[in-house]
Amino acid sequence: IDALRVQQAMALIQPARRIALLAHERPDGDCLGSALGLTLMLDQLGKECVPVCIDPVPPDFRFLPGYGRFQTSLGDERFDLVIALDAGELYRYGALAERHQDFLARVPILNLDHHVSSNGCGQVSIIDTVSAATAELLVLFQQETQLPLTQDAAQCLLTGMITDTGSFQYSNTSARTMEAAAVLLEAGASPEVTVKPLFRTHPLAKLRLQAEVTKQAQTACEGRLIWSYANDETLTIAGATKDMDDGCVGTMRDVEGVMVAAFFKSYGEPQTTRLSLRTYEPFDAASFCVRLGGGGHPRAAGATINRPLTEAIAEVVALLEEECRRLASPTDTAQS
Ligand code: 5GP
Ligand code: MN
Ligand code: MN
Repeated sequence: IDALRVQQAMALIQPARRIALLAHERPDGDCLGSALGLTLMLDQLGKECVPVCIDPVPPDFRFLPGYGRFQTSLGDERFDLVIALDAGELYRYGALAERHQDFLARVPILNLDHHVSSNGCGQVSIIDTVSAATAELLVLFQQETQLPLTQDAAQCLLTGMITDTGSFQYSNTSARTMEAAAVLLEAGASPEVTVKPLFRTHPLAKLRLQAEVTKQAQTACEGRLIWSYANDETLTIAGATKDMDDGCVGTMRDVEGVMVAAFFKSYGEPQTTRLSLRTYEPFDAASFCVRLGGGGHPRAAGATINRPLTEAIAEVVALLEEECRRLASPTDTAQS
């Protein structure tokens, strides 16, 4: 990462006394782990840090040291600096962005992220798309700045790295990713502390939800495309809650022959559907979702579609089929 940018980032951090650290909406291990990990490091500098996420910390993540410090609002806005983590657009931080629009327009923002589709939303933005996780970027940041890396901070950052790399199994895992993880293990983080609550022990209802979603799955394009959905009814049938759906799209991606897996969900608000996409080469998930107003990574991306579930599915599946066919046609390679 750019040493000059790191200096600029530290120039924002140094004079700040109260710092809000933002994790994006519908939080995952990377935004939560990054916001908490940096909180715990900046605590060591005597900063007053408040991690903020518009959504409550999902139960599976309640092993993270300090998770109870998360606030769901920017409260009285008494912050000298906002650090926005794991998303490069303010809208990704949810209703906070609108609710505190005036404040966010005047407070200095430091943006640390790793998405290819990110524009950067800070006075200083470090968008490192080589990093598999924002947490990996933070390890590089720590190495550059020598911020004190406590064992608890390391556990939080390791969680971000494990979740965004699928336990170091996805194509975003590099030698540098492994080296960053090694720094965290040396600082006392334990893989099992993260992996056991997140990937080994599930409530039965979560498996039932996955089963229900798998049962409803449909395929097209000779099985290269697979999609399914969940709505309030699916949750009721499975006895599940909406925070239990995170394994669903991965289960579909792992079906033999699949190039693109799409998971549609609509809970509570019937006019809004969320899309999660997982792909293999050459299907570019990020650019597909950017077309729908979302974004993400080449292999994992998402978008919010302002249509009811069935309409969103019909519309997006048509686009996915079109893209699958385009990628399959030999003229595509000839043209590009
Ligand atoms: P998921 O499918 O797990 O919700 O998201 C997959 C990836 O795409 C994540 O890295 C996430 O940050 C990104 N992503 C998901 N939804 C959106 C969206 O609406 N906008 C943008 N810019 N990125 C998204
Ligand atoms: Mn994330
Ligand atoms: Mn991330």
